[in-house]
Amino acid sequence: MTWNARITDSLEAIEARGQWRSVRTLDKSAADPARAPVEFASNDYLGLSRHPKVVAAARDEAGRSGTGATAARLIVGGRQVHDDLEAALAQWCDRDAALLFSTGYQANLGVLDALSRAAGPTGALICSDQLNHASIIDGARLARAEVAVYPHCDVAAVDALLAAADRPAIVVSDAVFSMDGDLAPLDDLAAVCHQRDALLVVDEAHALLGPAAPAGAIIVGTLSKTLGAQGGFVAADRAVIDLCTNTARSFIFTTALAPPSAAAALAALEVLHSDEGTALIERLRANIDLVRRGHPSPIIPVLLGDEERSMAVSRQLLDRGLLVPAIRPPTVAPGTCRLRVAISATHTPEQLGRLTDAFHEIGVDFDE
Ligand code: PMP
Repeated sequence: MTWNARITDSLEAIEARGQWRSVRTLDKSAADPARAPVEFASNDYLGLSRHPKVVAAARDEAGRSGTGATAARLIVGGRQVHDDLEAALAQWCDRDAALLFSTGYQANLGVLDALSRAAGPTGALICSDQLNHASIIDGARLARAEVAVYPHCDVAAVDALLAAADRPAIVVSDAVFSMDGDLAPLDDLAAVCHQRDALLVVDEAHALLGPAAPAGAIIVGTLSKTLGAQGGFVAADRAVIDLCTNTARSFIFTTALAPPSAAAALAALEVLHSDEGTALIERLRANIDLVRRGHPSPIIPVLLGDEERSMAVSRQLLDRGLLVPAIRPPTVAPGTCRLRVAISATHTPEQLGRLTDAFHEIGVDFDE
């Protein structure tokens, strides 16, 4: 069999499963924004990616430092803005120190890789929630650790795994699960980790409304969601940050974060800490409540089960000018296809009303 034939076979199999994916190009500067669909899909929860202060900070930094970092951080890629942003992130997370990565994905790869290698020749036991983000799954694989996947949010299962562990253990969990929008029992996880002498790593990518990582937990975060920029970070005790700086391969062997992205994230943090930031968070909370009262995060899943139905409902919404992506395997387990509604502070009550009305018209029960 030739490589051409193998590749064609793989593509045909994807198509036959109804799982073909293609990129979507969205021009937000379109001449007539009123005709563009309203999207409920981005992670720009506070709309900071287009905030004038954030955009200006990126532009100014490009003028000062250039568009790219030109080298890895440990070579000549570091700029003042990286140091300033790390100090601000450490403060935001209430940790000793922080280290920037080029993406949140790489932050998860790096921290699990570094910690597992520090566990010694056997590597660590990484206990990972069944619904953790792909970057955690890949990080655990890359770390060559022993991986134990525990049932979603099952603290007793974690405790049993830790009790039986034959090597140093790490528990890793999303704080807010990216496809379900539900919350991890972080305090209970921290308690069992404390009791069993395990490390707790918490991915706070979607956790702007909480839950906060417990004291002592290692935090992974991203600049690409709430902060509207690009990049990721780890915030932790100084020793963990030094370990990542010295051994995390996804930090060492890649070009440092582009300075304009770092400047954008720093400016976004300043907005977040101002009265305007408080008002934006309140608006986000109110917007979520308009759609599903009391839901704990900006990610609202509408479970439909079936792939075809999910795709059809997504298309019907798009016909009404509402962009809500269908999420299918392999992103979620077969039979749990869904629409993933992401709410932002920038949505207007009118847009949210259109969304709930459209679900109603299509005959999908939007409430849990
Ligand atoms: N962790 C979680 C929970 C995520 O949802 C994502 C992004 N979808 C990431 C990490 C990766 O972050 P980034 O986009 O910055 O690579």
